[in-house]
Amino acid sequence: MRKVNRRQLLEGVGAALVAGKVARSHPGARVDSQETPKAKTPLDLAEFQPRSMLHVPETKVSRSRFPVIDVHTHLSFARDSGEGSQRGKVHFLTEPEEALKVMDRKNLRTMVNLTGGFGAALEETIRKYQTPYPGRFLVFTEPDWSRLNEPGYSQFQAEEIARAQQAGARGLKVTKTLGLYLREGITTGPLVKVDDRRFDPMWEACGALKLPVAIHIADPEAFFLPIDRFNERFEELNNHPDWSFYGRDFPSFQELLEAFNRVVGRHPKTQFIALHVGHNAENLASVSECLDRYPNMHVELAARIGELGRQPRAARKFFEKYQDRILFGTDAVPHGVETPQQIFGDELYEIYFRFLETVDEYFDYAPAPVPPQGRWRIYGLGLPAEILRKVYSANAERLLGLPV
Ligand SMILES: [Zn+2]
Repeated sequence: MRKVNRRQLLEGVGAALVAGKVARSHPGARVDSQETPKAKTPLDLAEFQPRSMLHVPETKVSRSRFPVIDVHTHLSFARDSGEGSQRGKVHFLTEPEEALKVMDRKNLRTMVNLTGGFGAALEETIRKYQTPYPGRFLVFTEPDWSRLNEPGYSQFQAEEIARAQQAGARGLKVTKTLGLYLREGITTGPLVKVDDRRFDPMWEACGALKLPVAIHIADPEAFFLPIDRFNERFEELNNHPDWSFYGRDFPSFQELLEAFNRVVGRHPKTQFIALHVGHNAENLASVSECLDRYPNMHVELAARIGELGRQPRAARKFFEKYQDRILFGTDAVPHGVETPQQIFGDELYEIYFRFLETVDEYFDYAPAPVPPQGRWRIYGLGLPAEILRKVYSANAERLLGLPV
């Protein structure tokens, strides 16, 4: 017997009733207009913008419950490589006065501009943001990768950290240049490993000078897998194929994390802020293991509330257990266009505050018509005041040595 599901059965009964009724009143009348079209309507995934039919409370959180330190922002970029006049050139993405308006509206006490560069660029960036507005902007320095090949680089880079601190830098930022782009010949040859011994003096200098290291060494695990129909970040990677680290000579996701763990283990006096929830927000069990193993490791939230918010029960437990080790960050970039989850402005902060403070259900993690980092929505954690206070500012105050 042919299997008929309940839906088909009901449709069949309905059609028969309609057909019978029409047939009786208008013998010979056709009933085409009553039938469901047989052919499927093709629809490009890119055009699919489903609107949720859930009727659930929506809370607008215009200001954070407590003052916030955003430890992960990019207000400027300095070119760390390149030739001649481009080298060391700084691009300011916002005027400090423009950013301060958003900060005051949202209850942001401080923004940490991680990409401050080094040398003259660093000094220029500090003069632009940090000096005129003490306590509102802090600037981190970055390593000078371009000198890797020069004799005495290790010592030079360690001393550069001390010089940067004298110039006003409040920490070191390491981007995924280390591990995924920097090569033995800078742009050619084999990739330099995250735990390369040449950087040991630099990590040690940060520990000795009490400068925290904000480090980003891996993108989401899906970026290391084929861009195919099984990849949960398919749309994002398909739009930006250059974001993929699958194949070629790239290390695997696991290799990168293990190399990073060896660095953290080797420098116990250096405080590491593993950005983007330790690069592994999809696997909180693994991040928890690392936090248990390394007391000098901390994590930060930027661009990962989409991951945390789709596992709200596990995320809530994670916040409860590691409430002294989690820092607030967004990866905000003023006037960014490519990544809606990072555009600096009121909307971005309202989403983060809603996620941390409310128990709202199934809402967008980014201001965009389609969720940009995967087609799902998130659930609020409704964190208690004590945890909010720590995550919003107390943990960062301690690590950055700021007045409470
Ligand atoms: Zn960033």
